[in-house]
Amino acid sequence: MMMATATRTYRRAVITGPRQITFDEVGVPEPGHGQVLVRVAAAALCTWEQRVFAGIDTWSYPLVGGHEFAGTVEAIGPGVAQRLALGDQVAVAGLRRCGECWACRRGYDNICDNAAGVTREPGKPWGPSGFSEYALVDGYQIYRYPKPVPPLEAALAEPLACVLHDVKRFTPRRGDTAVVIGAGIMGLLHVAALRSSGAFIVVSEPDSVRRAKAVEMGAHAVINPSTEDYVESVKLHSEGVGASVTYVAIGAPPAIEDAVRAAAKRGVVSVYASVHPRGTQIQVDPNIFHHKEVILSGSMAQDHEDFLDAVWSIANRTVELEPLLSCVYPLHELEQAFEAAARPDTYRVFIAPE
Ligand SMILES: [Zn+2]
Ligand SMILES: [Zn+2]
Repeated sequence: MMMATATRTYRRAVITGPRQITFDEVGVPEPGHGQVLVRVAAAALCTWEQRVFAGIDTWSYPLVGGHEFAGTVEAIGPGVAQRLALGDQVAVAGLRRCGECWACRRGYDNICDNAAGVTREPGKPWGPSGFSEYALVDGYQIYRYPKPVPPLEAALAEPLACVLHDVKRFTPRRGDTAVVIGAGIMGLLHVAALRSSGAFIVVSEPDSVRRAKAVEMGAHAVINPSTEDYVESVKLHSEGVGASVTYVAIGAPPAIEDAVRAAAKRGVVSVYASVHPRGTQIQVDPNIFHHKEVILSGSMAQDHEDFLDAVWSIANRTVELEPLLSCVYPLHELEQAFEAAARPDTYRVFIAPE
C-alpha cells in the first residue's frame, strides 16, 4: 500500500515574513495511523494567506498556506476508515473537528472549540499545506470526488462549502429578494449557490467590472452603493418589502448596518465575512428587531455535510465555478500569484505544483 519513502523529497512554499517566501525541500512523509498523503494538484489563494503574505496577519509565520486545495491520494496509512484507493481525486477540508466538544456534539462541527487545535513549535513551518507538492492530512478531512473534476474547480470545494453553509442556514423562499453585498469571490459564490433558489438575486458592489461579473453569474439586479442609496434601492427591487435574506460578503460595518435597515419583516442578515479588527462596533436601532422581527446572525466555515454537498455539487456541475477561475501559477511563482490575487480584476488565483 505504501509508495512514499523518506528518501524522496518534495518542495513546499513557506511564508516566513511579510512578502517573504522560501522554498523548502523536505522528505516525503509516510502517513501514520489514520492519515492520508495527498499529492496536491491545485490550491487557491484565499484572503487569509493574502493577509499573511501582505504582513497584516503576523501571527502565522512560518506558514505553509493553501487551505483550498484538491489533489489525488498518494499513500494511505493504516486505520483509515473511509474507502480510498491510490489515485482517487479528493478535496481536503483543512478545518479540524475534535468530535468531543459541546459544539461538535451538537452537530456544529464548523465552530468546533478545537478547530485551531494544532500544536505549533516556534519557528517550525505549519499550516494546511496546499502550497506544497504533498499534504499529510487525517482521513476525516478527505472528501472523494465521485467522478473526475477539472483540478481548479476541485480545489474550490472548501470556499463553496462555506458559502453553502450560509445559504443553507438562511435560505430564501421562491420570489423573495435575496441580497448579496460584495461581488468578490465569496459574494459571487453566493450568487452561484442562490441561482436555483427561485429568489430574486440582487448584488451590491461599487466596482463596475465586478457588478458585470455578478450579472454574468446570474444576479437579476445590481446596486452601486457608492452612487445609489442602498436601502432605497433594495426597497425598489423588492416592491417595497425589503430583503428577506442579506448575505454580507464583505467585512464592512456600515454594510451590515444598511442591511439591517433594508431587511424585510422577518428578514435575516447574515454576517458572512469577518470584520477587522476584532472588536469593531456597529450601530443599529434595536426597534428594528422588535417591530420587524429581523434576525441578525452570521455564518462560519463549513460542517462535514456542507463539504459533502460542495463536492457533490462540483462533481455534478450544479454550481457554475468556471467564471471565477482567474489564473494559475507554478508553485515557485507563488509571489507572482499573490500579486495577481491582490488585483481587483481577479477572483480566484491558483497554484499548481506540476
Ligand atoms: Zn478560504
Ligand atoms: Zn469540537
